[in-house]
Amino acid sequence: MKTDPLLLMRPNIRALTPYSTARDEFSGEGITAWLDANESPFDNGVNRYPDPHQKALKQVISELFGVSTDRIFIGGAGSDEAIDLLMRVFCVPGKDNIVTIAPTYGVYEVSAAINDIEVRKVPLGEDYSLPVDALAEAADDHTKLIWVCSPNNPTGNAFPIEELCRLAEKTKGMLVIDEAYVDFSTKGSMLPLLERYPNIIILRTLSKARGMASLRLGMAFAHPSVARAMAMAKYPYNVNGPTQVEVIRRLQATPDISQSVSILLHERRRLEEKLPQVAGVKKVYPSDANFLLVKFDDPDGVYDKLMHGGALVRNRNRVAGCEGCLRITVGTPEQNDLLLTLLEQ
Ligand SMILES: *Cc1c(COP(=O)(O)O)cnc(C)c1O
Repeated sequence: MKTDPLLLMRPNIRALTPYSTARDEFSGEGITAWLDANESPFDNGVNRYPDPHQKALKQVISELFGVSTDRIFIGGAGSDEAIDLLMRVFCVPGKDNIVTIAPTYGVYEVSAAINDIEVRKVPLGEDYSLPVDALAEAADDHTKLIWVCSPNNPTGNAFPIEELCRLAEKTKGMLVIDEAYVDFSTKGSMLPLLERYPNIIILRTLSKARGMASLRLGMAFAHPSVARAMAMAKYPYNVNGPTQVEVIRRLQATPDISQSVSILLHERRRLEEKLPQVAGVKKVYPSDANFLLVKFDDPDGVYDKLMHGGALVRNRNRVAGCEGCLRITVGTPEQNDLLLTLLEQ
Protein backbone atom coordinates (compact mmCIF):
# COMPACT_ATOMS: atom_id res chain seq x y z
CA MET A 1 0.00 0.00 0.00
CA LYS A 2 1.61 3.27 -1.12
CA THR A 3 0.78 6.14 1.18
CA ASP A 4 1.04 9.83 0.41
CA PRO A 5 2.12 11.34 3.74
CA LEU A 6 0.58 14.70 2.81
CA LEU A 7 -2.89 13.18 2.64
CA LEU A 8 -2.55 11.85 6.20
CA MET A 9 -1.57 15.19 7.71
CA ARG A 10 -3.98 17.47 9.52
CA PRO A 11 -5.60 19.82 6.97
CA ASN A 12 -4.61 22.90 9.01
CA ILE A 13 -0.95 21.81 8.95
CA ARG A 14 -1.04 21.25 5.18
CA ALA A 15 -2.45 24.78 4.80
CA LEU A 16 -0.02 26.40 7.25
CA THR A 17 2.03 29.46 6.45
CA PRO A 18 4.97 29.03 8.82
CA TYR A 19 6.34 31.83 10.98
CA SER A 20 9.22 33.44 9.16
CA THR A 21 12.08 34.46 11.44
CA ALA A 22 14.23 37.53 10.88
CA ARG A 23 16.99 35.19 9.76
CA ASP A 24 14.95 33.16 7.26
CA GLU A 25 15.08 35.69 4.49
CA PHE A 26 18.76 36.36 4.26
CA SER A 27 21.93 34.27 4.27
CA GLY A 28 24.03 37.03 5.87
CA GLU A 29 26.59 37.44 3.16
CA GLY A 30 28.13 40.94 3.21
CA ILE A 31 26.28 41.99 6.38
CA THR A 32 28.37 43.63 9.11
CA ALA A 33 25.59 45.34 11.04
CA TRP A 34 22.90 42.88 12.15
CA LEU A 35 20.05 45.25 13.03
CA ASP A 36 17.14 42.98 12.12
CA ALA A 37 16.34 40.85 15.17
CA ASN A 38 16.49 43.16 18.21
CA GLU A 39 19.34 41.17 19.75
CA SER A 40 22.04 42.68 21.90
CA PRO A 41 24.92 43.83 19.67
CA PHE A 42 27.57 43.07 22.32
CA ASP A 43 29.37 39.85 21.46
CA ASN A 44 29.40 37.49 24.45
CA GLY A 45 29.25 34.28 22.40
CA VAL A 46 25.51 33.73 22.74
CA ASN A 47 23.99 37.14 21.91
CA ARG A 48 22.82 36.14 18.40
CA TYR A 49 19.89 33.92 17.47
CA PRO A 50 21.00 30.51 16.17
CA ASP A 51 20.27 29.12 12.68
CA PRO A 52 16.57 28.14 12.82
CA HIS A 53 17.17 25.50 10.12
CA GLN A 54 20.39 24.06 11.64
CA LYS A 55 21.94 23.91 8.16
CA ALA A 56 25.53 23.16 9.23
CA LEU A 57 24.39 20.53 11.72
CA LYS A 58 22.06 18.89 9.17
CA GLN A 59 24.98 18.65 6.74
CA VAL A 60 27.08 16.76 9.32
CA ILE A 61 24.17 14.47 10.25
CA SER A 62 23.39 13.91 6.57
CA GLU A 63 26.91 12.65 5.89
CA LEU A 64 27.16 10.57 9.05
CA PHE A 65 23.80 8.80 8.63
CA GLY A 66 23.66 8.78 4.81
CA VAL A 67 20.32 10.62 4.60
CA SER A 68 19.74 13.70 2.44
CA THR A 69 19.20 16.97 4.35
CA ASP A 70 15.62 17.38 3.07
CA ARG A 71 14.66 14.20 4.96
CA ILE A 72 16.03 15.33 8.34
CA PHE A 73 14.22 16.94 11.27
CA ILE A 74 16.24 17.91 14.33
CA GLY A 75 14.70 18.42 17.74
CA GLY A 76 16.34 20.39 20.54
CA ALA A 77 14.38 18.60 23.26
CA GLY A 78 15.52 15.12 22.21
CA SER A 79 13.44 12.72 20.16
CA ASP A 80 10.66 13.43 22.65
CA GLU A 81 10.21 16.67 20.68
CA ALA A 82 9.81 14.73 17.44
CA ILE A 83 7.28 12.42 19.10
CA ASP A 84 5.10 15.34 20.17
CA LEU A 85 5.46 17.11 16.81
CA LEU A 86 4.37 14.02 14.90
CA MET A 87 1.21 13.83 17.02
CA ARG A 88 0.47 17.46 16.23
CA VAL A 89 1.28 17.23 12.52
CA PHE A 90 -0.79 14.12 11.82
CA CYS A 91 -3.55 13.71 14.40
CA VAL A 92 -6.69 15.81 14.79
CA PRO A 93 -7.41 15.97 18.57
CA GLY A 94 -10.56 14.18 19.63
CA LYS A 95 -10.90 12.50 16.24
CA ASP A 96 -7.79 10.65 15.10
CA ASN A 97 -6.02 7.83 16.93
CA ILE A 98 -2.65 6.12 17.17
CA VAL A 99 -1.77 2.45 17.53
CA THR A 100 1.14 1.31 19.71
CA ILE A 101 2.64 -1.94 20.89
CA ALA A 102 2.46 -2.70 24.63
CA PRO A 103 4.57 -2.58 26.69
CA THR A 104 6.65 0.16 25.14
CA TYR A 105 8.18 3.60 25.73
CA GLY A 106 5.73 5.63 27.85
CA VAL A 107 6.18 8.96 26.06
CA TYR A 108 4.00 7.99 23.06
CA GLU A 109 0.97 7.52 25.29
CA VAL A 110 1.57 10.65 27.37
CA SER A 111 2.14 12.78 24.29
CA ALA A 112 -1.06 11.41 22.73
CA ALA A 113 -2.99 12.16 25.94
CA ILE A 114 -1.66 15.73 26.02
CA ASN A 115 -2.87 16.16 22.46
CA ASP A 116 -6.25 14.47 23.15
CA ILE A 117 -5.53 11.56 20.81
CA GLU A 118 -6.92 8.07 21.44
CA VAL A 119 -4.29 5.35 22.00
CA ARG A 120 -4.97 1.79 20.86
CA LYS A 121 -2.54 -0.57 22.58
CA VAL A 122 -1.78 -3.95 21.05
CA PRO A 123 0.00 -6.42 23.35
CA LEU A 124 3.23 -7.94 22.08
CA GLY A 125 3.04 -11.61 21.18
CA GLU A 126 4.79 -14.65 22.61
CA ASP A 127 8.36 -13.79 23.70
CA TYR A 128 7.60 -10.11 23.03
CA SER A 129 7.27 -10.66 19.27
CA LEU A 130 5.79 -8.03 16.94
CA PRO A 131 2.04 -8.62 16.42
CA VAL A 132 1.99 -7.38 12.81
CA ASP A 133 -1.50 -8.59 11.95
CA ALA A 134 -3.06 -7.42 15.23
CA LEU A 135 -1.47 -3.98 14.80
CA ALA A 136 -2.89 -3.69 11.28
CA GLU A 137 -6.29 -4.87 12.51
CA ALA A 138 -6.35 -2.32 15.33
CA ALA A 139 -5.98 0.50 12.81
CA ASP A 140 -8.88 2.20 11.05
CA ASP A 141 -9.31 5.23 8.76
CA HIS A 142 -8.56 7.57 11.69
CA THR A 143 -5.28 5.86 12.60
CA LYS A 144 -2.57 8.25 11.48
CA LEU A 145 0.45 6.84 13.30
CA ILE A 146 1.54 3.34 14.30
CA TRP A 147 4.37 3.42 16.85
CA VAL A 148 6.93 0.66 17.06
CA CYS A 149 10.04 0.98 19.19
CA SER A 150 12.84 -1.34 17.98
CA PRO A 151 14.84 -2.37 19.95
CA ASN A 152 11.86 -1.97 22.25
CA ASN A 153 12.00 -0.24 25.61
CA PRO A 154 11.52 -1.84 28.16
CA THR A 155 11.55 -5.37 26.71
CA GLY A 156 14.97 -4.92 25.04
CA ASN A 157 14.33 -6.97 21.88
CA ALA A 158 14.56 -5.68 18.30
CA PHE A 159 12.03 -6.79 15.70
CA PRO A 160 13.13 -8.38 12.40
CA ILE A 161 13.39 -5.90 9.51
CA GLU A 162 11.15 -8.15 7.38
CA GLU A 163 8.38 -7.88 9.98
CA LEU A 164 8.65 -4.10 10.09
CA CYS A 165 8.50 -4.01 6.29
CA ARG A 166 5.42 -6.21 6.31
CA LEU A 167 3.78 -3.78 8.75
CA ALA A 168 4.80 -0.76 6.62
CA GLU A 169 3.20 -2.42 3.61
CA LYS A 170 0.06 -3.45 5.47
CA THR A 171 -0.83 -0.14 7.07
CA LYS A 172 -2.52 2.90 5.56
CA GLY A 173 -1.06 5.20 8.24
CA MET A 174 2.48 6.31 8.96
CA LEU A 175 4.72 3.76 10.68
CA VAL A 176 7.03 5.41 13.21
CA ILE A 177 10.03 3.30 14.17
CA ASP A 178 11.87 4.52 17.23
CA GLU A 179 15.48 3.35 16.86
CA ALA A 180 16.88 4.95 20.02
CA TYR A 181 18.84 1.76 20.80
CA VAL A 182 19.62 0.54 17.27
CA ASP A 183 23.40 0.99 17.73
CA PHE A 184 23.35 -1.95 20.17
CA SER A 185 21.44 -4.27 17.85
CA THR A 186 22.59 -6.72 15.20
CA LYS A 187 19.12 -6.85 13.61
CA GLY A 188 19.78 -3.70 11.57
CA SER A 189 18.07 -0.38 10.93
CA MET A 190 15.15 0.65 8.75
CA LEU A 191 17.10 3.70 7.63
CA PRO A 192 18.28 2.19 4.29
CA LEU A 193 14.58 1.60 3.45
CA LEU A 194 13.52 5.21 3.93
CA GLU A 195 13.20 5.90 0.21
CA ARG A 196 11.37 2.66 -0.49
CA TYR A 197 8.61 3.37 2.04
CA PRO A 198 7.22 6.94 1.99
CA ASN A 199 5.11 6.07 5.05
CA ILE A 200 7.93 5.31 7.50
CA ILE A 201 9.46 7.76 9.96
CA ILE A 202 12.59 6.77 11.84
CA LEU A 203 13.50 8.32 15.17
CA ARG A 204 17.08 8.47 16.36
CA THR A 205 18.65 10.15 19.36
CA LEU A 206 22.10 11.19 20.52
CA SER A 207 21.06 10.37 24.10
CA LYS A 208 22.02 6.69 24.26
CA ALA A 209 24.96 5.14 22.36
CA ARG A 210 26.30 8.55 21.35
CA GLY A 211 26.52 9.71 24.94
CA MET A 212 24.96 13.18 24.66
CA ALA A 213 21.74 12.88 26.68
CA SER A 214 22.36 16.24 28.33
CA LEU A 215 22.46 18.07 24.99
CA ARG A 216 18.89 16.93 24.18
CA LEU A 217 19.30 16.28 20.49
CA GLY A 218 16.93 13.97 18.64
CA MET A 219 16.32 13.33 14.96
CA ALA A 220 13.52 12.18 12.72
CA PHE A 221 14.32 10.83 9.26
CA ALA A 222 11.32 10.86 6.93
CA HIS A 223 9.81 11.64 3.55
CA PRO A 224 10.66 15.25 2.59
CA SER A 225 7.01 16.30 2.92
CA VAL A 226 7.04 15.07 6.54
CA ALA A 227 10.35 16.72 7.38
CA ARG A 228 9.02 19.96 5.86
CA ALA A 229 5.78 19.79 7.86
CA MET A 230 7.67 19.14 11.10
CA ALA A 231 9.94 22.11 10.36
CA MET A 232 6.86 24.31 9.85
CA ALA A 233 5.18 23.18 13.05
CA LYS A 234 8.24 23.35 15.34
CA TYR A 235 9.22 26.26 17.57
CA PRO A 236 11.29 28.60 15.37
CA TYR A 237 14.61 28.33 17.23
CA ASN A 238 14.15 24.83 18.62
CA VAL A 239 17.85 23.89 18.79
CA ASN A 240 19.95 26.40 20.69
CA GLY A 241 23.24 27.72 19.37
CA PRO A 242 25.69 26.12 21.85
CA THR A 243 24.04 22.73 21.27
CA GLN A 244 24.37 23.04 17.48
CA VAL A 245 28.07 23.94 17.83
CA GLU A 246 28.81 21.27 20.44
CA VAL A 247 27.04 18.47 18.57
CA ILE A 248 28.89 19.27 15.33
CA ARG A 249 32.16 19.28 17.24
CA ARG A 250 31.51 15.95 18.95
CA LEU A 251 30.13 14.15 15.87
CA GLN A 252 33.18 15.23 13.87
CA ALA A 253 35.60 14.32 16.66
CA THR A 254 34.04 10.88 17.24
CA PRO A 255 32.03 9.76 14.20
CA ASP A 256 32.76 6.12 15.06
CA ILE A 257 31.27 4.87 18.34
CA SER A 258 32.03 1.18 17.80
CA GLN A 259 34.60 1.11 20.60
CA SER A 260 32.30 2.29 23.40
CA VAL A 261 29.46 0.21 21.97
CA SER A 262 31.57 -2.95 21.98
CA ILE A 263 32.52 -2.42 25.64
CA LEU A 264 28.84 -2.21 26.52
CA LEU A 265 27.97 -5.26 24.39
CA HIS A 266 30.72 -7.21 26.14
CA GLU A 267 29.34 -6.11 29.52
CA ARG A 268 25.79 -6.97 28.44
CA ARG A 269 26.95 -10.49 27.60
CA ARG A 270 28.70 -10.77 30.97
CA LEU A 271 25.51 -9.74 32.81
CA GLU A 272 23.44 -12.10 30.65
CA GLU A 273 25.68 -14.95 31.79
CA LYS A 274 25.99 -13.99 35.46
CA LEU A 275 22.47 -12.85 36.29
CA PRO A 276 20.71 -16.21 35.74
CA GLN A 277 23.00 -17.71 38.41
CA VAL A 278 21.84 -15.21 41.04
CA ALA A 279 19.27 -16.52 43.54
CA GLY A 280 15.88 -14.88 43.04
CA VAL A 281 16.39 -14.24 39.32
CA LYS A 282 13.65 -15.97 37.33
CA LYS A 283 14.48 -14.85 33.80
CA VAL A 284 16.83 -12.62 31.85
CA TYR A 285 15.19 -11.54 28.60
CA PRO A 286 17.34 -11.44 25.45
CA SER A 287 18.42 -7.88 24.68
CA ASP A 288 19.39 -5.96 21.55
CA ALA A 289 19.83 -2.76 23.62
CA ASN A 290 22.05 -1.35 26.37
CA PHE A 291 19.77 -2.64 29.11
CA LEU A 292 18.38 -5.92 30.33
CA LEU A 293 14.87 -6.73 31.42
CA VAL A 294 15.18 -9.14 34.34
CA LYS A 295 12.39 -11.00 36.14
CA PHE A 296 12.79 -11.52 39.90
CA ASP A 297 10.88 -13.43 42.59
CA ASP A 298 10.75 -10.24 44.67
CA PRO A 299 11.31 -7.27 42.31
CA ASP A 300 10.34 -4.56 44.81
CA GLY A 301 12.61 -6.01 47.50
CA VAL A 302 15.53 -6.28 45.08
CA TYR A 303 14.89 -2.75 43.84
CA ASP A 304 15.08 -1.38 47.40
CA LYS A 305 18.17 -3.40 48.23
CA LEU A 306 19.98 -2.18 45.13
CA MET A 307 18.99 1.40 45.83
CA HIS A 308 20.27 1.26 49.41
CA GLY A 309 23.52 -0.18 48.06
CA GLY A 310 23.89 2.75 45.68
CA ALA A 311 22.66 1.19 42.42
CA LEU A 312 19.50 2.62 40.95
CA VAL A 313 17.55 0.57 38.39
CA ARG A 314 14.11 1.03 36.84
CA ASN A 315 11.24 -0.81 38.47
CA ARG A 316 8.87 -2.09 35.76
CA ASN A 317 6.98 -4.46 38.08
CA ARG A 318 3.75 -2.48 37.67
CA VAL A 319 3.92 -2.21 33.87
CA ALA A 320 1.46 -4.55 32.13
CA GLY A 321 3.43 -7.30 30.41
CA CYS A 322 6.52 -6.73 32.61
CA GLU A 323 5.22 -8.03 35.96
CA GLY A 324 8.10 -9.00 38.23
CA CYS A 325 10.67 -7.14 36.17
CA LEU A 326 13.39 -4.59 36.73
CA ARG A 327 15.05 -2.83 33.81
CA ILE A 328 18.78 -2.62 34.33
CA THR A 329 21.01 -0.36 32.23
CA VAL A 330 24.41 -1.81 31.31
CA GLY A 331 26.99 0.38 33.04
CA THR A 332 30.76 0.48 33.24
CA PRO A 333 32.51 -2.77 34.28
CA GLU A 334 32.86 -1.35 37.84
CA GLN A 335 29.19 -0.39 38.05
CA ASN A 336 28.13 -3.81 36.80
CA ASP A 337 30.40 -5.42 39.41
CA LEU A 338 28.65 -3.41 42.10
CA LEU A 339 25.29 -4.53 40.73
CA LEU A 340 26.30 -8.20 40.78
CA THR A 341 27.84 -7.92 44.25
CA LEU A 342 24.66 -6.35 45.69
CA LEU A 343 22.49 -8.97 44.01
CA GLU A 344 24.59 -11.85 45.31
CA GLN A 345 24.43 -10.62 48.91
C1 LIG B 1 15.69 7.14 25.70
C2 LIG B 1 14.69 6.99 24.61
C3 LIG B 1 14.49 8.00 23.68
C4 LIG B 1 15.37 9.21 23.72
O1 LIG B 1 14.73 10.33 24.05
P1 LIG B 1 15.52 11.70 23.97
O2 LIG B 1 14.39 12.64 24.20
O3 LIG B 1 16.11 11.81 22.60
O4 LIG B 1 16.55 11.70 25.04
C5 LIG B 1 13.60 7.81 22.66
N1 LIG B 1 12.90 6.67 22.56
C6 LIG B 1 13.07 5.67 23.43
C7 LIG B 1 12.34 4.43 23.25
C8 LIG B 1 13.96 5.81 24.48
O5 LIG B 1 14.10 4.81 25.37
